[in-house]
Order: sequence, then C-alpha cells, then structure tokens
Amino acid sequence: MFDKILIANRGEIALRVIRAAREMGIQSVAVHSTADADAMHVRMADESVCIGPPPGTDSYLSIPSIIAACEVTGAQAIHPGYGFLSENANFVQIVEDHNLTFIGPTAEHIRVMGDKITAKDTMKELGVPCVPGSDGGVPTLEDARRVGEEIGYPVIIKATAGGGGRGMKVAADASEMEHAFMTARSEGKAAFGNDEVYIEKYLTTPRHIEIQVFGDGKGKAVHLGERDCSLQRRHQKVFEEAPGPCITPEERARIGDVCADAVARINYTGAGTIEFLYENGEFYFIEMNTRLQVEHPVTEAIFGVDLVREQIRVASGLPMSFGQDDLVINGHAIEVRINAEKVPEFAPRPGKITQFHAPGGLGVRMDSALYDGYSIPPYYDSLIAKLIVHGRDRPAAIARLSRALGELIVDGVDTTVPLFHALLAEEDIHSGEYNIHWLEKWLETNLQG
Ligand code: ADP
Repeated sequence: MFDKILIANRGEIALRVIRAAREMGIQSVAVHSTADADAMHVRMADESVCIGPPPGTDSYLSIPSIIAACEVTGAQAIHPGYGFLSENANFVQIVEDHNLTFIGPTAEHIRVMGDKITAKDTMKELGVPCVPGSDGGVPTLEDARRVGEEIGYPVIIKATAGGGGRGMKVAADASEMEHAFMTARSEGKAAFGNDEVYIEKYLTTPRHIEIQVFGDGKGKAVHLGERDCSLQRRHQKVFEEAPGPCITPEERARIGDVCADAVARINYTGAGTIEFLYENGEFYFIEMNTRLQVEHPVTEAIFGVDLVREQIRVASGLPMSFGQDDLVINGHAIEVRINAEKVPEFAPRPGKITQFHAPGGLGVRMDSALYDGYSIPPYYDSLIAKLIVHGRDRPAAIARLSRALGELIVDGVDTTVPLFHALLAEEDIHSGEYNIHWLEKWLETNLQG
C-alpha cells in the first residue's frame, strides 16, 4: 500500500479523497492554486503544495507542477478526482513515466473511451447495446444528410471529443441539418480542438441510466447497479438517485452483467461508469466515463462500499475487497448538486460565505468544502456541495432530502437550493416519472422570466 498520495484536484472531491486516505492510514498531499490557499482541502491534507496562479490551466491542469509536487513531497500515487486531468491519457502516461501510480484506469482505456466514436465501436464489439446512428465519423454535410435519411429524424450531431454537454446539436428534420452539423463541428473545434462529429438517433423521451462498474485490471469486474440521472439542465445532471425508480431487478442484473463482462474483457482497472439512455425497456450506450463520478455517493450509500478506498486499493495492486455476490442493494439514495448559482438564470455567484450550517442526522451525508467565512473563488466550477440522503425506500429518501434541505444554511451567495425545494413540491418527482427533458420543460414553465 502507498504511504502517501497526492490529490490533483480541489473542492469537495479533494476532501473526499483525503478522507478515504486518512482512514486507510495514508498521508495526503493537497495541491492548490494561489486562489485556493485558504481552501478546505489544503487545511485538511497532511501537506500542501502551491502549484500556480488561479486559472486552472496554470495550476490544476499544469502537469509539470503536479509531477514536481509529487517529487518534492515523496507522494507515490496521484488521485485525479473528476474533471481537470482525470480523463487525460497524456497525463497518465507522464505519471507512469515518472514511476508514479495513477489511481485510475490505463492511458489506453482513457484514450479509447475519451473518443466517443472509438468508445462506441469498442462497446459494440463487447456486446453492449448502442444508440442507432452513423458508423463512425461523419466528414461532410452530404454524409450527414444521408445518415439523417437513413436513421430518420430527429437526430443528434455530437462532437467525438465532446463532454460536459458541449458539442451536441439536435436536428429535428432535414432543414435543420446544415445548421446543427456546422454548429456541432465548430463547438467541437473550439472547445476540444477536434471537429470530428458523428450522428445518433435523437431519443425523445429517454431516461439517463448509468451503470457503475469496477475492475481489478486483471480480468475481474463487478457492477454496482444503476444511477438515474435524468434530471438535467443543458445536458448537465442536477439530481441523481439509486436505484433507478423505473429499473426492475431483472433489468439491472441483465444490463449490469453485460457491463461488468465488457470491462472484465478489456481488463479495466478501477471505477468506471457506462452511460445509457433508456427508453421503452431498452438500453442504449452513449459514453463511458473512466473516472469517479460526481454522483458516486448514491451508489456508495445503497451498497455500503467506499469507492475511493477501493480505487486506492486496486491501484496499489491489492485485490478488490468485494465480489458481485457481496453487492446487495439496501434502500434508496438521492444526491442534489448545490451550485453557487442564481436561479432561474443559473448565473455563477462566487463570493463570501457569511454563514454555513450543514444538515446532519440519520442517512444524511454532506460532501462540501465550505466553511464559515470561505470565499468561493470565481475561477472554477460552481459546484460547492453535494447533499446525499439515504432512506429505506424512495419515499423515505425524499422525506429525508426535504428535511435535510430545510436544515442547510448557506448565506452570502445564491445557490441552487431553492430549485430543489421547488422540485420536491412536484408530483412527478414523487412518482419518479420524469425523463431527460422533464427539467428543462419544467424550468421554462415554472421559473423563467
Ligand atoms: P457529454 O459527454 O457531453 O456528457 P453525453 O453523450 O454523455 O455527453 O450526453 C449527455 C446528455 O445528452 C445525455 O444524458 C442526454 O440527456 C443527452 N443525449 C445524448 N445523446 C442523446 C441521444 N441520442 N438522444 C437524446 N438525448 C441525448
């Protein structure tokens, strides 16, 4: 086992990893930008190293600074969290070239899954069901029109390098193809330096269901069921739950086994998420995330496992501490993402927290890096906290979420908490009847203007 690990991240996820390391008796090293000198992850870690000025590109994304921080502190492994360098295959290669361990999958797996076209091809070969669409990239508008006719409108044009909901455009019919195709290409080029796009059938009422997988890198893998992340704004998740309200145990076992088998066959290492759209009882693969997800705590809650601890164990060469038969679902868990944003515009609202009180009690977990007097810097993601509740069933989890949100105090900045209070008054949320378009429509009628 490692003696010391470095966390190449900030905010709540850096804290999450530091906590796991401490419980395992491992020393932790925080890295931080000058804007984060007073951040909670810096205070909580055993050591910290300043790696650069505020912009992420000069600090949390600066590979030489992070490698140097490992060298000066003697950290043997790097946990990337999510975002930043977590899915950067080049970074993984450099980490390994410096005889350090990357706590995550291999550079090759990250590369294959990071390109949505090669990811889809690989998954198809491994027997995972995919959304109907173009076979690989679509180079010209003419090709795009042909694919549109073949698979039938509406279609979605996606940048192969896309992520975070960017580089995706819907064409409702042939007349919208030119604009959608050109926009997806230019967004892909501007945001990811790659203008290759592909086309998929646009599903009109799907749910977003993702399967958590975990592999030991030696051909053994398990699945930890699904998370339903259908409540999204601009293709970004805001509310996640496990198990999925509409998934039966038989469906879970079937798709779970397909996913576990797929990652076992490629000798996948560590945590991964295979994302699907789910419509009329069918699963359609859309992408794989080769890292820990923001919403991993709902899975931890219902299975009683620590996924970060497991990542660290497997990266150090130890076997996984659970097998498929040990993984039994207990109850229901929900996570809400609390962002420093003003609703309904969802405009970022960095600033100083004048008062902070985290909810507590049975079945409540608050993953945040906030404290009284903390100043949220304007340079990074606006996620400031995740509230996760666990109850014996879905109604109990919802009641607990409502109770916990009522206890939470975050004064000094606007947050997305009012959105969740409003959502909890909706019958569809209680019945679990929503799809990936529900929230956008609800926002239009209820909160805009
Ligand atoms: P990103 O990598 O940017 O997160 P994804 O491919 O994971 O992109 O898609 C994000 C979201 O976009 C999905 O959860 C879903 O809401 C929507 N989406 C993606 N593909 C389709 C599709 N074929 N039909 C309908 N919606 C889609």
